[in-house]
Amino acid sequence: MTAQTWPFEPYKIKMVEPLPVTTRARREEALRDAGWNLFGLRAGDVTIDLLTDSGTAAMSHHQWAALLGGDETYAGARSWTRFERTVQEIFGFRHVIPTHQGRAAERILFAALVQERESEVVPSNAHFDTTKGNLELLGRRAKDFPISEARDPSTRAPFKGDADLTAVEEQIRDGKVPFVMLTVTNNAGGGQPVSMANIRGMGELARAYGIPFVIDACRFAENASFIRQREPGYADVAIPEIVREMFAQADAITMSAKKDGLANIGGFICVNDDEVATRVKQLCIAGEGYPTYGGLAGRDLDAIAVGLREVLDEDYLRHRVGTTAAFVEALAARGVPVLLPPGGHAAYLDARMFLPHLPWDHYPAQTLVDEIYLEGGVRGSELGTVTFGMDSTTGVERPATWELVRLALPRRVYTRSHLEYVIETVAAVHDRREAVRGLRITSQPRVMRNFTSRFAPVAQAEALDPLEPPTRKFATRSARD
Ligand SMILES: *Cc1c(COP(=O)(O)O)cnc(C)c1O
Repeated sequence: MTAQTWPFEPYKIKMVEPLPVTTRARREEALRDAGWNLFGLRAGDVTIDLLTDSGTAAMSHHQWAALLGGDETYAGARSWTRFERTVQEIFGFRHVIPTHQGRAAERILFAALVQERESEVVPSNAHFDTTKGNLELLGRRAKDFPISEARDPSTRAPFKGDADLTAVEEQIRDGKVPFVMLTVTNNAGGGQPVSMANIRGMGELARAYGIPFVIDACRFAENASFIRQREPGYADVAIPEIVREMFAQADAITMSAKKDGLANIGGFICVNDDEVATRVKQLCIAGEGYPTYGGLAGRDLDAIAVGLREVLDEDYLRHRVGTTAAFVEALAARGVPVLLPPGGHAAYLDARMFLPHLPWDHYPAQTLVDEIYLEGGVRGSELGTVTFGMDSTTGVERPATWELVRLALPRRVYTRSHLEYVIETVAAVHDRREAVRGLRITSQPRVMRNFTSRFAPVAQAEALDPLEPPTRKFATRSARD
């Protein structure tokens, strides 16, 4: 186990928000009311909220000040000019189109790119769920091409987010690929970074076959920080330069400002091609708003513009990536099974190894995420059979490839002592793991069931005689490929 020091927070606190402190009895009640689904909890019952790193960042005083300077002119606002100039400088594209968040950027750009082509499959290192959803809504298939090292949770490869370019090329040769994608960092695959070599390779492949290359840029700054840290030749290259080099390879990007925009809402599209930009702007007007505000208030554009510069700060990134690493390594040192090496924004606990006595249809990851909440009021998210195990077209349920609990770290929100409390909480569950019993589903929709399914402890659920259980089928293949 690599010893990992905790970097100190490169900021101080000048506004505080009290944390709810709850009793075990209150948490039991809250969990029962929520049907053992943590999405059903109210914020007042959560002490440390690691459900997501999306839209949960603490804004800086410069961002709050920028909000007051927001210009709410409908078309061509001064806020828009500041936003456009910042995004162009950082990412280097000709056209910038704002959207209300990342998934709107996906919906619009994909619709503009698949137009008039007979095309079926969009390859990526790993599609995020909204990316996949937006492609499927257009009748296209989203297909993941991770490298083989990504499949082993304990291999400490430096760039486990890379795509398997040989397999991507085979897919392109088969025809019907409208464009290729990379997600940086790879969220679905554990927040693992993509190397500059892989980004360059994907760019060369796209150019060789005359198709566009789109980057899902949500965690671009965290990715750049890993390139600097781990890729030979980049140790002395400034972060903004690494970012420019990454995006010089791409034809377009989709971005969620709720991640590395350090904002609470927002997103955007960047594109170089004039014709694609024209189509994107039309779709933006139809669904989001005039293309100089794209579903956002002028003040939001200003907060994002400031956030995009702050996220490139070396001290910020050293703390961000260093804290995630220290957190993950500390869990590993306590014997907690975690995905390695640490990624940029979260710890991923392997629930199958944590609770080996639970069968897959007692939902080990859901059980674990609930136990961690009961233990200390810490909320994580399930990324296992509940989220990925249901085939929505057939209604058949099978074990997902991974059975993970994600503890995502909001940016600039929690301090080291909060995370030490989380480590103690998880370790306490680990100490009593053999006594943990699983869950049964008592009600569920077929689509996106992780958000609204209700559960009950196995013993109680059987007494309740739940609804007809879903059809089950064992399979070793990924439920997602
Ligand atoms: C969050 C996220 C999105 C979608 O962005 P939203 O702002 O939540 O709509 C797309 N891709 C990745 C990799 C993400 O993490």
